[in-house]
Amino acid sequence: MICVSIARGRHRHMIAEHRHLVSQGAKLVELRLDYINGEVNLKRLLADRPSPVVITCRRERDGGKWPGTEEQRLMLLRSAIAEGVEYVDLEDDIAGSIPRYGKTKRVISLHDFRRTPDNLEEIHARLASLDADIVKLATMGNTPHDNLRILSLIKNSKVPTVGICMGDVGTPSRILAGKFGAPFTFATFHHERTLAPGQLSFTQMNDIYHYNRLNAETKVYGVIGDPIGHSLSPIVHNAAFRRLDINAVYVPFRVPREHLDQFLLDAPKLDIHGLSVTIPHKEAVAKKLDVADESLTGIGAANTLLFKDGKITGYNTDCRAALGSLEEAIAEHFGRADATLAHQTALVLGAGGAAKAIAYGLKKIGAAVVISGRTSERAEQLAKSLECKTVDWNSRYSVHPDVIVNCTPVGMHPNVDATPYDKHHLRPSMIVFDTVYNPENTLLLKEARSQSCTVVSGVEMFVRQARLQFQQFTGQDPPAELMRDVLKRAIGPAKY
Ligand code: NAP
Repeated sequence: MICVSIARGRHRHMIAEHRHLVSQGAKLVELRLDYINGEVNLKRLLADRPSPVVITCRRERDGGKWPGTEEQRLMLLRSAIAEGVEYVDLEDDIAGSIPRYGKTKRVISLHDFRRTPDNLEEIHARLASLDADIVKLATMGNTPHDNLRILSLIKNSKVPTVGICMGDVGTPSRILAGKFGAPFTFATFHHERTLAPGQLSFTQMNDIYHYNRLNAETKVYGVIGDPIGHSLSPIVHNAAFRRLDINAVYVPFRVPREHLDQFLLDAPKLDIHGLSVTIPHKEAVAKKLDVADESLTGIGAANTLLFKDGKITGYNTDCRAALGSLEEAIAEHFGRADATLAHQTALVLGAGGAAKAIAYGLKKIGAAVVISGRTSERAEQLAKSLECKTVDWNSRYSVHPDVIVNCTPVGMHPNVDATPYDKHHLRPSMIVFDTVYNPENTLLLKEARSQSCTVVSGVEMFVRQARLQFQQFTGQDPPAELMRDVLKRAIGPAKY
């Protein structure tokens, strides 16, 4: 179950938001009395309430806004119990001074905005001993390992426990809470009104992660990277899981570089069966595999991991996805299904992970590859490893390519007015492929179209690589059109 926190200054707004949320399917809400401006009228907030409530009134030191005295706060909490609210949140230090009464369930809580303490079990036992119906621990997630610690605590606890790691590292603990046995997790009314760092909105929890469908058997997949907040992979993969009625969830895991090893050790304990891998881990994970699929050969970077029988197998779906997109484009360009990229001159812009995968694939297929990168040493190193040519970034227009592939982030949101290749050098005979997928219609692609070039978008590559990953994860063909649609919608104006 999702408990949606409502924090509004006016009674009228709190009541309206409560009604709206219930009409949207919310089964439990938290009324944050500390946000109410002026005197709190409990009877007004609780009269004809459309769903059970958790009553919370937080002091500043616990992340709240309560302006009154502690005595007034305790009085308010006691009154809420006397009114028969379904749950009341009592911090550990006041739990002893507010006795159980009636049917109101006691949520005994503790917040630590600095860390997830080492003695988590000890703290939990202390909270549970304070006549708790539910223990709530909200601690700052400083490392991805903190998620495993708090989720294990939930799983092993006899007293129902709501455990949350705050911060963007801790987001997985919010999504996976129910799977590990938490009676509920917290979400906000709207993604722009978060009350604690890393919180997701009710809509995100429902529409992206389908939280209420997750259970102990749900298999976990996800994407690791740093940063990860803007990854669109969760939207795409979760939509496909849902459409095919697969009991699985795809979670964004922010994993800083120095925590990669520990995360890979933790993955099976989080019930992780497969992962997508993005910047900065693609090359590092390739060195930690038990089995390297042949798709990694010559690239040395993995963007897909499978965890099975205690072994990690790595794959690279970027190269196949990019080449597949280009092969379709060249067939269209020449109006012949057997048209090939062999002997075509391909100018690859950039010398990072994507450039490496795509240049390798192009070289293998027989294209004449020229690499041009902003940092010439990096470009030269890549060209040397692939035995292809390189040209200085400032001299990139001296190449007369048949195919241009942008593997730099130039033109990516929010810098949508930038292009890595000047319009005046584009020719109708060219195929122009931009790996950037947000926006789909980059300036490079717009200008290429205006010059009558054949264009390939990053969305095409993204959907193809996601499809290949999904096949690796589940052994099933995903609904590609659905993946494309949700990706395009997500790239459009913000919805969540
Ligand atoms: P990366 O490893 O960080 O490499 C980025 C490359 O772009 C580096 O060579 C970098 O040069 C260069 N670069 C960065 N900013 C630049 C600028 N302002 N001007 C010129 N060059 C610049 O990243 P990556 O993983 O290869 O990803 C690159 C792009 O591919 C991203 O836009 C990503 O969205 C896209 N991509 C798309 C898909 C898809 O499915 N559509 C999949 C993977 C990647 P330096 O070496 O000088 O920093």
